Amino acid sequence: MLPPTRGAAVQQDNPDITFITASAPVATASHGGRAKCLQRLVRLDLPVPRTVALSFDEVHRIAAGDTPDLEALIALLNPDGLICVRPSSEDPDWGGPGAVLNIGMNDARHASLSKTLGAAAANALYARFIQSYSIHVARLDPDMFDDMDMQADDICEQALDAYEFEAEEPFPQDVSQQLGGVLRSMARAWEGTSARLLRQAKGAPADAGLGLVVQEMVLGLGLGECGSGVLQLVNSTTGLPQTTGRYLSQSQGRDALETGAASLYIERDTRGPSLEEQAPAAFEALKAHAALMREKLREEMQIEFTIDNGRVHILDGVRVQRSARAAVRIAVRLAEDGIISREEALMRIEPRALNELLHRQIDPKAKRDVIGTGIAASPGAATGRIVFSAAAAQASAARGEACVLVRRETNPEDIRGMHAASAVLTERGGITSHAAVIGRGLGLPCVVGASSIRFQPKKRALATADGRVFREGDIITVDGSEGQILAGEPAMHEAALDDAFQTLMAWADAARDIDVRANADTPADAQTARNFKANGIGLCRTEHMFFDADRLTVMREMIFADASDDRRSALEQLLPMQREDFTELFRIMEGQPVCIRLFDPPLHEFLPTDRSGLRDLAEALSLPLSDVTRRVEAMGEYNPMLGMRGVRLGITVPEIYDMQARAIFEATIAASRDGDPVVPEIMIPLVSAKREVELVKTRIDAVAAAVRTVTGVKFDYRLGVMVETPRAALRAEDIAPHCHFFSFGTNDLTQMTYGLSRDDAGRFMSAYVQQGVYPEDPFHTLDADGVGELLKLGAERGRRARPDLTLSVCGEHGGSPESIAFCRKAGIDYVSCSPFRVPVARLAAAQLAISDKIG
Ligand code: PEP
Ligand code: MG
Repeated sequence: MLPPTRGAAVQQDNPDITFITASAPVATASHGGRAKCLQRLVRLDLPVPRTVALSFDEVHRIAAGDTPDLEALIALLNPDGLICVRPSSEDPDWGGPGAVLNIGMNDARHASLSKTLGAAAANALYARFIQSYSIHVARLDPDMFDDMDMQADDICEQALDAYEFEAEEPFPQDVSQQLGGVLRSMARAWEGTSARLLRQAKGAPADAGLGLVVQEMVLGLGLGECGSGVLQLVNSTTGLPQTTGRYLSQSQGRDALETGAASLYIERDTRGPSLEEQAPAAFEALKAHAALMREKLREEMQIEFTIDNGRVHILDGVRVQRSARAAVRIAVRLAEDGIISREEALMRIEPRALNELLHRQIDPKAKRDVIGTGIAASPGAATGRIVFSAAAAQASAARGEACVLVRRETNPEDIRGMHAASAVLTERGGITSHAAVIGRGLGLPCVVGASSIRFQPKKRALATADGRVFREGDIITVDGSEGQILAGEPAMHEAALDDAFQTLMAWADAARDIDVRANADTPADAQTARNFKANGIGLCRTEHMFFDADRLTVMREMIFADASDDRRSALEQLLPMQREDFTELFRIMEGQPVCIRLFDPPLHEFLPTDRSGLRDLAEALSLPLSDVTRRVEAMGEYNPMLGMRGVRLGITVPEIYDMQARAIFEATIAASRDGDPVVPEIMIPLVSAKREVELVKTRIDAVAAAVRTVTGVKFDYRLGVMVETPRAALRAEDIAPHCHFFSFGTNDLTQMTYGLSRDDAGRFMSAYVQQGVYPEDPFHTLDADGVGELLKLGAERGRRARPDLTLSVCGEHGGSPESIAFCRKAGIDYVSCSPFRVPVARLAAAQLAISDKIG
């Protein structure tokens, strides 16, 4: 029996059920993307079958059981033909129920089509419809068709009998009843809980609507050249021009794409027959249609088409699926061809998607054997043999063997091992822990806080939650983009910094209004920063220069020195090394600003922790082991991050900063000799009181004066402080008169504002975020409400005292697009982030400036 129908008028100007013409009231927000695209194709005079669009509201009513006048709807199309229904959600990525084809097939049509198209085509159409109606509308078990031979002469009788048996009623013969059933089932499928959760996971709002398009079928089966396929004008992986797709004779929908289908290539191809050879006129027409769509829809489109007795029909157009690399090239080519503006090209690329171009990635088609997950701390993927110590990583590198360094957590002693490894995996830590910061700096894939895996470093093994054990030497892959650890070696895509990427970045630089510098500690980092066109170095963490084996020993001698003179003499040995470091940085940066932060970490980070290290140290210093052990223990602190570090060291052990200042000034003179004059920026870490700055400034000024006197060379320098304690932000007005710039160290500022350890927060962060205690990990996304308030306050108060104060952010947040938006609004002059994040930051900054411009 037919369901009761609503007497609503089905007419051309009814926005809820509208025949798609060039001027019909169809919009993406009310009818979905597919309906809107079809209208655009109609406007281009392309051969699109007649189509009726149902609005989100109409589909919602249908789901509630309120059926429109179906006879009138069918009358808008060819009443003697078959029809199909396809979903039309606002964003195609949100999914939707599958299309149902061949509605209207019944015994009578089967009989007449058998005469006009032949029995085989009529059988295929009817059997296919019975099958999809049974599964999607009557919700019968799909297995009921498993044993049927779809080519059998009596396939329709078999399918009809099976339907009648399972549904306990005959297969509906009335077209309105068939259509009503299909519309209702598709509408209800969309409103079901699992479909809703699925699309919400893809970013759809809870109340996202579904539109439906009801379209006349072009059969794709029958006499002459008939079939269906898809075509696009670019390669989805590279974005380079290439006519590609698949075509299958005597087929419908997306049959040509099914694995095992005997489909043809689109363009002539050495690997097999093609549509170009089989139906050259149709091929040329399709190419011309696709080119017109590209130009007028301002996008690379994939056409879904049907050929009916040699004539081409376009059923649909969807945005070509694309890798991030292809997305960049497509956007750049569209702008270069004058189809879109450069600004629009920039706005079309999600900044974080550039990570896919900057780092090797696991091939999206590769099978993933995930053995554990953690925090995605540094993007990219790499494979290697498991090693459990920095020394083993170095030995592995010396053998030319890729390795993954696995540690409970890393500390400065692991840096050389990290340099030697292909990837790093730690059990503990969060997004700003040591491994994460260094990993991002080196462009090294890194997963931290992988607490789902049991780390057994003594046994040299990793035990996974599913009971597997991986030992030293076993091959694993770290995917730092997804936060996954995988067994084995999946296929990879190489990084792709091609000409399209460079072009897009040049456009971004022309558009943006905030500078992006890099955090770079070594000449190699500085070179990467230059390659990524950073506007200078915003943070050089000088302590990273002291971990080379030859420097570490001198450093330890300095730490163990009892008297200032002994300390000075150890530092004398470090001075030329530091001078060389800085000279090289200045030379690489060729006149771009370089901001050098004076020594920051607690000294005991440079001391050994295990017995054999202590023994080596005792030997190097010619001291009894017991003495060395006692002194190392005495230097330990309960809370080192709040202890003797940063400017507190600068004040209590001033010889270190004296040596560093001298090395900076001498390097300034050396680098200025064969280039533009260098004006170094010197930054004091962990300031919390104005007097700290006064004391350090007096000594640095004295060192500068001494170097000027001895060398007879004039030079300038800029002094600044890191604002990374809440007190420094609050007392910014006192501090600013003594310096040229403030750099907000949002890592420590976040740690101290929340009272949240950077190194331990990873343990409970996911529970906190899951339960909505924090909306995000504040070490990852700047907490605009709390930490941000301190930052704004510090900026305002600082500028009140000194209007020309340069302001920047150099914590890890500097590279995140959301934080850059906040910084721009707060009047920050530049952000500084790991070199590999510089391109992402440059694009994000450009998008913010463009958004402001277009309002
Ligand atoms: C910071 O605290 O934000 C910062 C940049 O310094 P570090 O990460 O070296 O403590
Ligand atoms: Mg800090």
